[in-house]
Amino acid sequence: MQQFQRLFPHEKVRPVQGQMMEDVFDALSAKKHIIMHAPTGIGKTVSALVPALEVAKKEGLTIFFLTSRQTQHHIVIETLKKMKQKQGIAVKAADVVGKRGMCSQDGAEAFHSGEFHDYCRKLREDQQCEFYANTKKGNSQALTVQAKRTMEELKLLVPLHVEETNQEARKARLCPYEMAIELGKEAQVIIADYYYLFNEGIRTSFFHKVDKEMGKAIVIVDEAHNLPERIRNLATEKLSTFILERAIAEAKKMEKDELVPLLENLLSQLQKTLKDNADDGEEMKNNGEMKISKEEAIDIVKQTHDDYDSLVEELIELGQEVQAASKRSYLLSVGRFLQAWQGEDEGYCRILSAQDKGFSLAYRCLDPSLMSRDVFKACYASVLMSGTLKPTAMYKDILGVDGAIEKEYPNPFPKRNRLTLVVPRTTTKFLQRNEAQYKDIAVWCSGISDGVPGNVALFFPSYFMRDAVYRHFHGLCARKMFVEKPKLTKEEKKNFIERFSAQKNAALLGVSTGSFGEGLDMPGVLKGVIIVGLPLQKPTLEIVSLIGYYDKRFGKGWDYGYVFPAITRCLQNAGRCIRSEHDRGVIVFLDERYARQNYLGCFPKDWEMVVDARFAPHLEGFFSGKGEEQQ
Ligand code: SF4
Repeated sequence: MQQFQRLFPHEKVRPVQGQMMEDVFDALSAKKHIIMHAPTGIGKTVSALVPALEVAKKEGLTIFFLTSRQTQHHIVIETLKKMKQKQGIAVKAADVVGKRGMCSQDGAEAFHSGEFHDYCRKLREDQQCEFYANTKKGNSQALTVQAKRTMEELKLLVPLHVEETNQEARKARLCPYEMAIELGKEAQVIIADYYYLFNEGIRTSFFHKVDKEMGKAIVIVDEAHNLPERIRNLATEKLSTFILERAIAEAKKMEKDELVPLLENLLSQLQKTLKDNADDGEEMKNNGEMKISKEEAIDIVKQTHDDYDSLVEELIELGQEVQAASKRSYLLSVGRFLQAWQGEDEGYCRILSAQDKGFSLAYRCLDPSLMSRDVFKACYASVLMSGTLKPTAMYKDILGVDGAIEKEYPNPFPKRNRLTLVVPRTTTKFLQRNEAQYKDIAVWCSGISDGVPGNVALFFPSYFMRDAVYRHFHGLCARKMFVEKPKLTKEEKKNFIERFSAQKNAALLGVSTGSFGEGLDMPGVLKGVIIVGLPLQKPTLEIVSLIGYYDKRFGKGWDYGYVFPAITRCLQNAGRCIRSEHDRGVIVFLDERYARQNYLGCFPKDWEMVVDARFAPHLEGFFSGKGEEQQ
């Protein structure tokens, strides 16, 4: 611990924290990668940052702290601010979010995120951005006098939250993003979203701008359980009826009549392909989706345009023009999609699926290691951490983190504060879904809730399942109900949680992958969490392809593509209950499948799960404190 005293900003090292810091230090010093399952409460951020800063100082490296959550950006900067207050050491840091989110131009938020980049480039090229012109001298990368002056002021204030950088830059009518990049050039820590490193194009330009080298980067990936799916999404391209219809209107408006037959043909032929398959394909009848080959779609395009490549070029060029004038171009979306469609088959699948109003054609990435392996190979060393990174070996495989050290830390909170119970009754299994089953689940949920003296949250595998059970549950349970709606805005989520947190005996009915299943802190609010059923994903063509792909790669398709992601969701949901050493609560897994060894064995060993359908005595014993002696 001695070597961490210089920077450690808190009074006391928490249990397990010292070990975690030692492990990070040893791994990074040896230029290795470390994958850590580290439950909530250990203090992961500081435990990774302090040793990483020590290694970075010694070796002249830069830390890239990657997170997809705004709250986590905040925690990192707050940790660095505490180091400055307590130890008097001002770590140079740059907090960067997406360019669109930092832009000073009115209406920047209206852009589709993928298109904002083109819009900004065009404004700069045409010298139409006042903020950029105030920041950079002409076409050179040099700062103006005004920007240099503001930069000197900012350097005295670091570490700064991104909002603070934005505010200072806007006050001086400068481009906040460019100012953050300038801070990044001297930074020891850069806090950014995953895509700054895991999208090759963005990474190359970002590293060039901040003048850093991958070989001198320590990469810390926070909430790393989300990284595989984030990379898959980043590397996936989609085309839909909606996009094609608007692209047709755009081409007509631009008087580009030669493009209209292509777009109309693409629209009608893809619709026809889907319909033909729906008429004679069993698979289609079930899921409304089908696989389509690269050649099939290219052939449709070639029915009207022989030269695929020059067509793509034309669409992109024209789309960029439209976008510069009206901020959004669907021709550009079509061009970008057709460009991506020519990509590799290995590690991807191509799916045509029916949607509410038409279809969607996806070039879907299955294998995140196609993007991440190179990053981990090229960087100096890395830390991948999360409270739900189990099994660590899976993340090593699917992200391609060759030679990584794997560590699993125990829950730091007192065991007596938690009861983890498997109630092996009822099931949400697809083939056994019926009204009687929903009613049965509601009865069990109501009984379990009655045994919890305080607020409970129930997480279901889907909104459909939640609503089916709720129809019976609300008549059985006297608690005030808070029923989560899909796709809540940030503000709506905040209001919902404020209202729920003000209650003493209410029930939150949410969905495992919904707004409240992950990343939400409600310390002291919940006394119980009930995870209803297994949140397995619908066996869509994509999931079936994923299982097949991981079977071929690792012989573990079922686990990597289906079961483990569901267990991760369960662990995230379960984690909502106990957020601090003072929280005390019960976590119940309700489904007969949880008692099977292949599922039970996936949970952390120190959870000491009790499997018993007679839940009442366990709840009574736990909440009356009588069971404490045995725990
Ligand atoms: S240069 Fe900066 S302020 Fe101007 S459009 Fe781009 S991000 Fe916005």
